[in-house]
Amino acid sequence: MKAEDSGRSRNLSDEQRFQLLVTGVSDYAIYMLNPEGFINSWNAGAERFKGYVAEEIIGQHFSVFYTEEDRRNGKPARALQTAREQGKFEDEGWRVRKDGTRFWANVVVDPIRDHSGELIGFAKITRDITERKAAEEALRESEERFRLLVQGVTDYAIYMISPTGEITNWNAGAERIKGYKREEIVGSNFAVFYTEEDRARGMPAQTLKTASEEGRFEQESWRVRRDGTRFWAHVVVDAIHDDEGKLLGFAKVTRDISERKQAAEALERANAALFQSQKMEAIGQLTGGIAHDFNNLLAVMLSSVDVLATRAQNYADIKVLDAMRRAVERGALLTQQLLSFARRQPLMVERYDLNKVIGSFEAVLRRAGNSAIEMDIRPAHDTRTVLLDAARFEAALLNLVVNARDAMPDGGKLVVAVENVELGAGQVGNLVPGAYVRVSVADTGSGMPPAVAARAFEPFFTTKEVGKGTGLGLSQVYGFIAQSGGDVTIDSEEGKGTTISMYLPVVEGEPDDVIAVAGARVDTVLIVEDEPDVLDAAGQLFRSIGYEVVTATNGVDAMAMLERRTDIDILFTDVVMPKGMNGIQLVRSARELRPDLKVILASGYPLSALREQYGRIDDFAFVNKPYRLAELAKVLRAAG
Ligand code: ADP
Ligand code: MG
Repeated sequence: MKAEDSGRSRNLSDEQRFQLLVTGVSDYAIYMLNPEGFINSWNAGAERFKGYVAEEIIGQHFSVFYTEEDRRNGKPARALQTAREQGKFEDEGWRVRKDGTRFWANVVVDPIRDHSGELIGFAKITRDITERKAAEEALRESEERFRLLVQGVTDYAIYMISPTGEITNWNAGAERIKGYKREEIVGSNFAVFYTEEDRARGMPAQTLKTASEEGRFEQESWRVRRDGTRFWAHVVVDAIHDDEGKLLGFAKVTRDISERKQAAEALERANAALFQSQKMEAIGQLTGGIAHDFNNLLAVMLSSVDVLATRAQNYADIKVLDAMRRAVERGALLTQQLLSFARRQPLMVERYDLNKVIGSFEAVLRRAGNSAIEMDIRPAHDTRTVLLDAARFEAALLNLVVNARDAMPDGGKLVVAVENVELGAGQVGNLVPGAYVRVSVADTGSGMPPAVAARAFEPFFTTKEVGKGTGLGLSQVYGFIAQSGGDVTIDSEEGKGTTISMYLPVVEGEPDDVIAVAGARVDTVLIVEDEPDVLDAAGQLFRSIGYEVVTATNGVDAMAMLERRTDIDILFTDVVMPKGMNGIQLVRSARELRPDLKVILASGYPLSALREQYGRIDDFAFVNKPYRLAELAKVLRAAG
């Protein structure tokens, strides 16, 4: 076969072979023109593209292939002229087929000269590149559409940066989110969008490094707008390489997800608050139940001790019963504190001006601090009225001050402040919007780590050494304030200090004005008590509400004192005293000596038990031990 082929071709002249080649080519129209532009050869490609067969086109002028306009503009003649003068004419343009349809052609015209240089015609090669052109067009259009799309996107900042971080373009979203116009930002380094801290940590360079090494970098963090404000951004950086793998730059897509972040945080806060309130509720139920039953048991024990006391034969028996009573009373105090946390303690509410409540309690608060602590009490201007149990409030405030003191073993500053505040919805816990009085106790002490702050209100939660803390302080504050329709918050930073704020709802109307303003008139009280601890505590209480205090440990000494000192206005005595006179005998003798003397009896025993033992005592004011400040103040006002 091969031998035959070569045998046959050997029979052809070079010219014939070339003729065959050209005639057979079907991907290019190859034909010749004479010097005037008339067609004198035609090939298969020409026939395929232009639709003419050789017989009908040879001898015609090549301008038939041009469009109407091109012909009118003399384009065919110019093509030949250019080829003649410059040795080549090349063009891309519309050409017309036999059937009148157009195709996009790539055209080359070469002049053909003989040996003497005489022009003998032109070789014309035409290619139909309509498809290529359409493809290019489509690509250009799609790129343009894509560019417009990217430009127009406003929810995402989309822009490119060079391998070294310079911004090379900018879209509408970038302008909207970051606030820079294209003109002012293109050419700058993208590091301007980072926060000061991130720049200092080399985050921008790190971002590009990761993106170029791993192809992609993704992050959520703070970014800075033109006006300096921050937004929480979701950022994706993609490295862009050319076909050879050379890094061309990076595409950066940034989204402002501040709102999403805020919503997520709000949800988290709401969940935490819900968890906290459910936890407190559950603990409250439990402790409330236990404390209530316990209190009933203690009541039985207490009345049994009372019964035994009435039958006691000697001092030794009384001593034993007294120890029992003290233990039971301590248990009762504990259960009271628990009941208070569980909001099961009845409140004795009245309208108060908190400035005055705190003012009259200031002496006690100051004593709770120590010399290394600078205490500042800042009343509100014109406080609004609140409804509360003043004694319980004082106990709560004292708890907070004691905690603050404990948190500042090396001294510091303690500020008790009263302010009127307007709260919006959800601003403080579940408090309804409205007017509140905020009483805050701020210290510059150790502060609490978040885990401690989260549990500080739980009963028995303490970080203090055994014997130093019961863990019942804040739980009582919490229970009491919640029961009063308010809320308590903890703001604490480790090493910086703590502020505990109590919010109490404002009520209409003026205060009931029952607080005796300390120092208005200094009365002197004689306290008679055989138990030194109790004597001390009672002395402190009276001093805290502005009384001058003198003391005696038995009835005989007390009588002697009353005879000596005429400035004593009040006699405050325990009923059951082991030596000599008991309290009842003492007040009777004292009244004989000084009929105008105010007298108050105090006892851990109920009135009924005392009556059995001592007969009629109802003409004297009486207060139950352990006494509380508010009770004492009331009895003092009532005592005649
Ligand atoms: P206690 O004082 O008996 O420990 P509290 O209920 O009063 O119990 O307080 C519970 C815990 O809360 C404390 O042990 C302490 O860890 C923490 N705490 C309370 N107040 C403060 C404060 N002002 N500064 C630092 N920590 C505090
Ligand atoms: Mg405490």
